[in-house]
Amino acid sequence: MGKILLMQILKTIAEVRQWVQECRRAGEAIHFVPTMGYFHEGHLSLMRRAKADGGRVIVSLFVNPLQFGPQEDFERYPRDFERDRAMAESVGVDAMFVPEASEMYPPDFQTQVRVQRLSQPLCGRSRPGHFEGVATVVLKLFHIVTPDRAYFGEKDYQQLRIIQQLVRDLNLTVEIVPCPIVREPDGLAMSSRNVYLTPEERAAATVLYRSLQWAQEQVAQGMRDAHVLREQVQAQIAASPYARIDYVEIVDAETLEPLEVIDRPARIAVAAYFGKARLIDNMALNPPSG
Ligand code: AMP
Repeated sequence: MGKILLMQILKTIAEVRQWVQECRRAGEAIHFVPTMGYFHEGHLSLMRRAKADGGRVIVSLFVNPLQFGPQEDFERYPRDFERDRAMAESVGVDAMFVPEASEMYPPDFQTQVRVQRLSQPLCGRSRPGHFEGVATVVLKLFHIVTPDRAYFGEKDYQQLRIIQQLVRDLNLTVEIVPCPIVREPDGLAMSSRNVYLTPEERAAATVLYRSLQWAQEQVAQGMRDAHVLREQVQAQIAASPYARIDYVEIVDAETLEPLEVIDRPARIAVAAYFGKARLIDNMALNPPSG
């Protein structure tokens, strides 16, 4: 007897619309997890959460060319469809949308959306056009999938804030569910790009988590000077011979504007190259009340 295929693989927008219609007829909510594939526990945690919340779970797997700059890693971004399919199926995903680029971007495609202020700082500065690519593909996916809820990791904190703002600004009805960062046992945030790391770079990369955690402790103990704290974290990371820092910033958790004084919910965010891998990480900085 052959294995019963529980998870549907949908390749076209028309197939997704039909699947969605069947779910709706069955009275089921639709929970959506957008991804670029090469799954790890971070992705699976979003899928499990979507499943646990009830309804049918659909995952999109699309390495979106629009969000990669000309010098970035679009071509060599890791891909393994069979592995991804098995992993998604193992956590009970009901359908996977795996479009070709031509399905998402026919030759006459010309519209993009931009979430103005939130796209400017942090990764927006070193990756021009990246968040327009993200916002555009996510808006398209929301229109194709029409989810009741969509799940995003705090690993990509700026992306999460941009999507929340997009939903608000354009009056979308989807509920955005933020999910905590999943880490390796030594603290490194899981990322598909971690496969780029050599063993030496992989070991060195733990400095990101350690320095963020240290910053979080400083704030819990009453430290409020964002400038001094930022410099200290920057120095800790720079001490690693493998790290090339892109940015270390302490920002308002909502507006992502730089803070001088940590007197409200804040976020410390870092981006650094370790060899070929550009790694990002972030952590909440919550000043003690009173
Ligand atoms: P990606 O495939 O890298 O575009 O990520 C797809 C989704 O998974 C995004 O919402 C990410 O924020 C989320 N994600 C990626 N890595 C992690 C992680 N380590 N912990 C939690 N969520 C993650």
